[in-house]
Amino acid sequence: MLIAGNWKMFKGPSDAAAFCRDLRDADLPDGVDVVVCPPYVSLADAVQVLAGTEIGVFAQNCHWAEDGAFTGEVSAGMLRELGVYGTIVGHSERRQYFGETDETVAKRTEAALAAGLHVIACVGETEAEREAGETETVIRRQVSVLDADESLVVAYEPVWAIGTGKTATPQIAQDAHALIKSLIDVPVLYGGSVKPDNAAELMGQPAVDGALVGGASLDVESFAAICTAART
Ligand code: PEP
Repeated sequence: MLIAGNWKMFKGPSDAAAFCRDLRDADLPDGVDVVVCPPYVSLADAVQVLAGTEIGVFAQNCHWAEDGAFTGEVSAGMLRELGVYGTIVGHSERRQYFGETDETVAKRTEAALAAGLHVIACVGETEAEREAGETETVIRRQVSVLDADESLVVAYEPVWAIGTGKTATPQIAQDAHALIKSLIDVPVLYGGSVKPDNAAELMGQPAVDGALVGGASLDVESFAAICTAART
């Protein structure tokens, strides 16, 4: 099981350091891999505070070039130099607000893996796509640009469930995960309004290998409770 906390654009360096100190001291279960994904500016503090622990630090995105004229972007090599262990790629907020496409997601994923980072690549349908009966087509298209790799994990994040409090039913998650696993042989995380009170049921589905958690990862107590629910 892997539980990843996506902080989005929350927690600058001092808040991140304080959170990581509390997380370091929290009672986290054995057998569950735990990672946090702070904003770029807070990565160094998170890496420093979590050094020597089992808790990994991931970025939220990563460019495909080693360096170059790409204002506002950060490369995999730069993240590695900071001691960052992996990165999220293709989050739906990147796809929705920043023009990320299947093609750029593939390029970012490939470059990050080649540089030695672990990758959580996000896929998932919008509400309109689900209502139009296009869920399977969308997932197949998004997954088709990814190649299995031992450092790759896919996160199934139905866009209608992200930050909305509307969680996919365990059956919806199970069906989508089973589809993804039939297309690519990697672990699959569920993301979309995972909270301490729904985590155990979602994590109990056979094709669910963990969770990508947004809002509920910003509080140490609720994040640790989700990690604990993943073990049971
Ligand atoms: C996310 O940011 O990937 C996410 C799933 O957010 P939330 O848990 O807040 O829905």
